[in-house]
Amino acid sequence: MRLAAVAQYLPERMSHMHEQSLAGKAAIVTGAGRGIGRTIALTLAEAGAQVALAARSGEELRSVQSEIEVKGGRAIAVTVDVSEEASVKEMVGTALAAFGRLDIVVNNAGVGVFQPLLETSVAEWDWVMAVNCRGSFLVCRETIPHLRLQPTSYIINIASAVAYRGYANQAAYGASKHALVGMSKALAQELRETGIRVHVVSPGGVDTEMIAQARPDIEADALMHPQDVADIVLFLVTRQGNAVIDQIRVRRAKAKPWD
Ligand code: NAP
Repeated sequence: MRLAAVAQYLPERMSHMHEQSLAGKAAIVTGAGRGIGRTIALTLAEAGAQVALAARSGEELRSVQSEIEVKGGRAIAVTVDVSEEASVKEMVGTALAAFGRLDIVVNNAGVGVFQPLLETSVAEWDWVMAVNCRGSFLVCRETIPHLRLQPTSYIINIASAVAYRGYANQAAYGASKHALVGMSKALAQELRETGIRVHVVSPGGVDTEMIAQARPDIEADALMHPQDVADIVLFLVTRQGNAVIDQIRVRRAKAKPWD
């Protein structure tokens, strides 16, 4: 009797879990010109979302836009420097004018300086904090009034394994990602009574241009693929149910577990 009840329940849950259509939804993905952000944008577009691709390099964005359009999706390329308040306001205005709504925001744009703290200048420190931390703050602040208009909407902040563990030569980068997690925790509390879900995704090494600078010692085939992260983002923005996943930490298969 009990087993029968479970069997009846499972298919329904499974069908919810695999329902991945984002048709009619609109997303902003920062840092969408290459690396992890590019793959997240392609993945959301493939699931039916209209995507605003945001970063500084217009040429990279337009190339991703073409990739999406060739497959029948819809995307716009919006140049932005996420560390600049006016630039972020303009980017959000452009996305809203194009799509008329906003359901998903992925704060993925990020930079790092990978060197000893003793060799880090004030300008480098401030730049990393301004992009990784202030940038995500500005994008959240400017998009929340629009996300609020949907019954359920999502902010996904891409942090890093460095938000939880110390890595030599990554002091500014690690500080900025700890700060991003701190901001996300406070924001999740502030938005608790709304339909906006705040998630943090913290990957270890992923095969992109950034990791080539940060960890030249790790072979490419020992790294995660951008798609590994994009799959998690897609899962977070398509799953149904009554549970909230605050943060997901994901490591490359060869890294030590539970650190
Ligand atoms: P990436 O290949 O260097 O791409 C970074 C993206 O961010 C680019 O599109 C870049 O475009 C954009 N960006 C940088 N500064 C910006 C700014 N001021 N305003 C707007 N866009 C800006 O890096 P990635 O490895 O894909 O990293 C993506 C995110 O994942 C970052 O937040 C990173 O910290 C995080 N992460 C990466 C790894 C990894 O191993 N790769 C691991 C954990 C977490 P423009 O230069 O054209 O602006």
